[in-house]
Amino acid sequence: MCNSRSAVPRHVYVHVPFCARRCSYCDFAIAVRREVPVSEYLQSLAKELQVRFGETPAKDVDTIYFGGGTPSRLGGDGLARAVALVTRYFTPAAGAEITIEANPEDVTATAAAQWRIAGVNRVSLGAQSFDNAVLDWMHRTHDGAATKSAVSTLQNADITNLSLDLIFALPESLHRNLENDIDQLLTLEPDHVSLYGLTIEPTTALGKWVQVGKAVEQPEEGYEMDFLTANRLLTSAGFEHYEVSNYAKPGKQAVHNAAYWANVPYVALGPAAHGFDGETRRWNLRNYAEWRDVVMTGTDPIEGSELLTNENRVAESVYLGLRSEAGLLTTNSDHAVIDRWIQAGWASVGADNRLRCTTNGWLRLDSLAAALTHHRSR
Ligand code: SF4
Repeated sequence: MCNSRSAVPRHVYVHVPFCARRCSYCDFAIAVRREVPVSEYLQSLAKELQVRFGETPAKDVDTIYFGGGTPSRLGGDGLARAVALVTRYFTPAAGAEITIEANPEDVTATAAAQWRIAGVNRVSLGAQSFDNAVLDWMHRTHDGAATKSAVSTLQNADITNLSLDLIFALPESLHRNLENDIDQLLTLEPDHVSLYGLTIEPTTALGKWVQVGKAVEQPEEGYEMDFLTANRLLTSAGFEHYEVSNYAKPGKQAVHNAAYWANVPYVALGPAAHGFDGETRRWNLRNYAEWRDVVMTGTDPIEGSELLTNENRVAESVYLGLRSEAGLLTTNSDHAVIDRWIQAGWASVGADNRLRCTTNGWLRLDSLAAALTHHRSR
């Protein structure tokens, strides 16, 4: 059960939708632009802040996260101005985490220095793979060397809290060597790694390749093998597997993402951004131009909202609890479902009475969460 009703949000998400082109697997809310309309976007963001928070005093927050899309496409100055706009309304508390997502090709020495001066202290870099043929297939706009260069540029600019994203479970026909990719990643010594299994959405280029037989989804055994291989290599290198898709060196867990998993309130700004006030989820207009046009008339760019029902809350608390090492507080009644998981090695219950998935349990996360939600909802 969410314990955050009516709490004041201490986390802010800002969606920056621009990308140079669409990756073959991506169905995110993005705006493909060769030239990024930086000033137009910043004016619209300023307007949304004014419309939604103009009458309220500035609040202290623990995290600000610029996600996308590709926030680094705003450039050094553009992103620094975006941070300045947001921090007028949301003041970073001492030690606050300010993260930007970046693609390697946008990381120049000048941009990195401007981000650091603006207060950015963590960068999540979209590496995905170090194999250039794989990166081409993904329609990424960088090669493996660009990722390595971006890491050293960021470190030289004193942004040392770095996370790298990798994708696994690629079609077998690509002959991607995951072990080699993880070895290369480890030489860069990131603090944090996000590891996502490839999902095939029907509206993407990849979805269309699958429909016409140009690509074949990795079979389930391959997915499991990749997941376990990554777990073995990363935990041997000193990373803690603290959430189904995330690994961190001790003390380097992502504070902003942990807020989502803890189901606490957060503010969300920008097109398609989803926020939560402890009771209600709200989301902004998804299309960039619509969001911009509506907000520039001085109107809240909200597209919809949903007051969470008790059923929603049960489902969310189970899913969110099981996906991270924080775990889920168990009740006596849960044992009718979870005893079998414990025997199978998919979960354990600690002295704190919290249920935690094992690595093998995380491979079954969706079905375990569905079973326990069903049980708790009866
Ligand atoms: S860079 Fe990220 S958001 Fe942009 S198209 Fe690629 S996967 Fe999607």
